[in-house]
Amino acid sequence: MRYLVLSDLHANLEATEAVLAAAADLRADRTLVLGDLVGYGPDPVAVLVRVLSLPRATVIRGNHDRVAAGLTSDDEFNPHAQTAIRWTARQLTPDTLRVLSALPMGPMIIDADVQICHGSPRNEDTYVFTAKDAEFAGQAATRRVCLFGHTHVAGAFGRSADAAQLVAPRGTAPLTVTLAGTAAWMINPGSVGQPRDGDWRAAFALLDTTANTCDLHRVEYDAAETRRKMRAAELPPILISRIGPDSR
Ligand code: ZN
Repeated sequence: MRYLVLSDLHANLEATEAVLAAAADLRADRTLVLGDLVGYGPDPVAVLVRVLSLPRATVIRGNHDRVAAGLTSDDEFNPHAQTAIRWTARQLTPDTLRVLSALPMGPMIIDADVQICHGSPRNEDTYVFTAKDAEFAGQAATRRVCLFGHTHVAGAFGRSADAAQLVAPRGTAPLTVTLAGTAAWMINPGSVGQPRDGDWRAAFALLDTTANTCDLHRVEYDAAETRRKMRAAELPPILISRIGPDSR
């Protein structure tokens, strides 16, 4: 089975379209979306509609989806994320609010080999940054490959009997991770809409459970257009500065 894996799209339509165009050649059987379709970016409704119209897609919610839908408060967000999530909530139509509210929470079992979650299989709000984090989170995983997002940092942690190791930090994309020979994996495809790992390009992954590989991809997109829309929407400048080749 070949899975296209997307996470943290964050209402970035240009990045989402670039990823879907690049993925069209990859012959994925199914698409897995690990949450945070909205928040930060200028196109929450368009991204939501686009993703939910994908054939054979399984989508779980992220913390931004949950807060934008009004299911929990935005108390835990920093002021910039708060401004953006309140703007996002105002853009939602009754229909998109309904589908956003109904997105299931992870973790979710996909098949005999794969499960997905937003932050960690323990909690959708937990950040898995380090090998130690991945080891602790992985102890709660119930499948050989656990796909997660939330940090916006692409990488693969291989888990042996007693420790996890970062096998695939950022590199020249596509970077192929060979899954055979390692007991279990925690893999983050990176963020489509707002990467925070030093590479501004939209990130995604292609997991092939038959070939036993996971490719970490990056693709350029029209970030100038995304920034233009964010300025027009008067989203916080600091969020605009996180988008594009000169992002920080
Ligand atoms: Zn996110």
